[in-house]
Amino acid sequence: MKTIAVLTSGGDAPGMNAAIRAVVRTGLEKGFKVMGVQRGYSGLINGEIFEMGRYSVADIIQRGGTILRTARSEEFKTEAGRIKAVNILKAFGIDGLVVIGGDGSFKGARELSKMGINTIGLPGTIDNDLAYTDYTIGFDTALNTVLDAINKLRDTSSSHERVSIVEVMGRNCGDIALFAGIAGGAESVIIPEKEFDVNLLCRKVLEGKNRGKLHNLIILSEGVGGAQALKKKIQEVTGIETRATVLGHIQRGGSPTAADRILASRLGARAVELLEQGKSSRVVGVRGNEVVDFEIEEALAMESKFNEELYNIANILSY
Ligand code: ADP
Repeated sequence: MKTIAVLTSGGDAPGMNAAIRAVVRTGLEKGFKVMGVQRGYSGLINGEIFEMGRYSVADIIQRGGTILRTARSEEFKTEAGRIKAVNILKAFGIDGLVVIGGDGSFKGARELSKMGINTIGLPGTIDNDLAYTDYTIGFDTALNTVLDAINKLRDTSSSHERVSIVEVMGRNCGDIALFAGIAGGAESVIIPEKEFDVNLLCRKVLEGKNRGKLHNLIILSEGVGGAQALKKKIQEVTGIETRATVLGHIQRGGSPTAADRILASRLGARAVELLEQGKSSRVVGVRGNEVVDFEIEEALAMESKFNEELYNIANILSY
């Protein structure tokens, strides 16, 4: 193998740039020619490919977003689209590809592997929703963004003795809500993995007030439902003024944390090592601080194990 390429695909996540940098510099160190593909699979189909040198990734480790841009491509989901992509890769002499993205992007990577392109996936998503890895690139930064917002909301909620609902991202994974709930000392965490009873929640709010709590902070994962409806219900039942804040895309941006930069650097380096070894159709992750890799199909089939320990801690400490 002589030429490898890297692309970012699907939803962006802070730390993608650190991963691109690690792929480019590790690749060059190993003697590969390294190309960057712009706009994910969409740019791949259109041949938006250019060579990357050591300095093309200078000054990006601290930046959020992705210098390669990201996109979703319906065309790539069709066989005709993927044939175009493979032809483009061949035209540029690319025999190895690193795809940084989430589960959708990994499915695309698996298809490219089947078509003879050695492809390795790196988990770039704030949602932490990939079961094969303890952490995804971008999760820690998003978590800290949420924490910063919670700290601020706590001040104003305490002053006005309000209930504050904060809706956070994560799709069907409650990790952002759960981790932020513990770190931010929230009174309640509502996540898709656990059933929740709105009556019990209202009771908890009232009991908290009776015990002298000045504020009541509720972290709601987007996978559960709308913050506005919950706000209305809590206000109706408890009579306490309640505010809802939907953090939205602010959670996707910002300078990556040290943890995300280091994770991205480690995983990016491993992806290139795997390509050097002629491996294909694998995804890289981290388990118990060890860098690991799995066959894509196997990784996507893994079921998330819900972290009961963290959930219990969140409940006990919120009392
Ligand atoms: P993420 O990678 O963040 O989960 P998406 O699910 O939007 O984001 O996937 C990103 C892109 O990956 C899609 O726009 C599409 O081009 C490609 N993709 C997703 N699913 C498949 C699939 N089953 N087969 C081939 N390509 C896919």
